[in-house]
Amino acid sequence: MNTTIEQGRKAFMNTYAQFPLVLKSGHGCTVTDQDGKEYLDMVAGIAVNSLGYGDSEFTETLKGVLEGGLLHCSNLYYNEQAVLAATQLKQLSAMERVFFCNSGTEANEAALKLARKWGKQFSPVKDEIITMISSFHGRTYGSMSATGQEKYQKHFTPLVPKILHTPFNDFEALSAAVNENTAAIFIEVIQGEGGIREIDVDFLRKVRALCDQKDILLIADEVQCGMGRSGKAFAWQHTDVTPDAMTLAKALGNGVPIGALVTSRTCSEVFEPGDHAATFGGNLISAAAANVILKRLLEGDLLAHVSEVGEYFKSRLHKFEARYGCVLEVRGKGLMLAIELDRPARQVIANAMEKGLLLVGAGERVVRFVPPLVITKAEIDTACEILDQILSEL
Ligand SMILES: *Cc1c(COP(=O)(O)O)cnc(C)c1O
Repeated sequence: MNTTIEQGRKAFMNTYAQFPLVLKSGHGCTVTDQDGKEYLDMVAGIAVNSLGYGDSEFTETLKGVLEGGLLHCSNLYYNEQAVLAATQLKQLSAMERVFFCNSGTEANEAALKLARKWGKQFSPVKDEIITMISSFHGRTYGSMSATGQEKYQKHFTPLVPKILHTPFNDFEALSAAVNENTAAIFIEVIQGEGGIREIDVDFLRKVRALCDQKDILLIADEVQCGMGRSGKAFAWQHTDVTPDAMTLAKALGNGVPIGALVTSRTCSEVFEPGDHAATFGGNLISAAAANVILKRLLEGDLLAHVSEVGEYFKSRLHKFEARYGCVLEVRGKGLMLAIELDRPARQVIANAMEKGLLLVGAGERVVRFVPPLVITKAEIDTACEILDQILSEL
């Protein structure tokens, strides 16, 4: 047995069913293991490493911060990187204010607190939150309670109270659950962990109208589908609906931990000093990382590239759907794609790894594709050839 894996098994808490693979370095869309074997990476650290590996602007920017000596200064003071990151987020979203934290779950905790304080302006009991069944919002108590999947909650009750779940894309069920005490509705425009499921735009429009009518905040969890992954900077930009707030993390730092809650005018004034904080939030190193990818989304042709290669990839996956009975459905947008199989995804993922292709599931029977956004058509061809071989041998 490999000593790194052996030591890891003894040292880590038993929270992950890890593959026996030790990754060491990366370039482009390829990662390399301890023995020098290369893998085409369609996981990207779970929709995180959008610029791939070794991007020279990213590397130089982080080096610049390190050489300045100051990686963190707390939110007692301003720093230029955080101000620039917030400004770029405002530009990309046309929203108003930003709160920085360190992860997706933390961004959602901030959003939950914002929602409860928002509700209390109207009534002391306007504190109910509705989220969707099969959603995923994170692992800390508020976000876990908001997650609409029992498997993440069952050992950890009691949950945070007054968070209800209604079926995704079912407006009748949602409107039946809404009352004068509803403070916020959380949605993912494309559910990630729930199996790459797109929101129905008509459903979303009706939710927006209901929120307007009843002073309810519409909060989009863009932790996975945001930051260019869908082919737009934020997945809600594919629709004519604007949320009141959104949460970001995953690709926001291209591998350096950073999350954000971004608010529009409706709720930008809810928090006051003392209401919420994060020691590391918006520190120089994570904000600098975010600035590189934010600049790329604002200025470059990255979004056009994602749309183009995403469509190409999806059309290739549709051919598998036509050819192989075990492929039931192709779903997703941009470079957030999936195939649903008639069997557990585990075997396909293990076979792909053997053949030098990294894949990740999204629930039991779904194989998810969330490669770096800079992936080329040639690399997609390579991945599809490997997949073709695996599917033909099932
Ligand atoms: C991954 C994810 C989260 C949680 O993010 P962490 O950084 O792991 O806390 C929340 N929401 C969605 C939609 C996610 O995909």
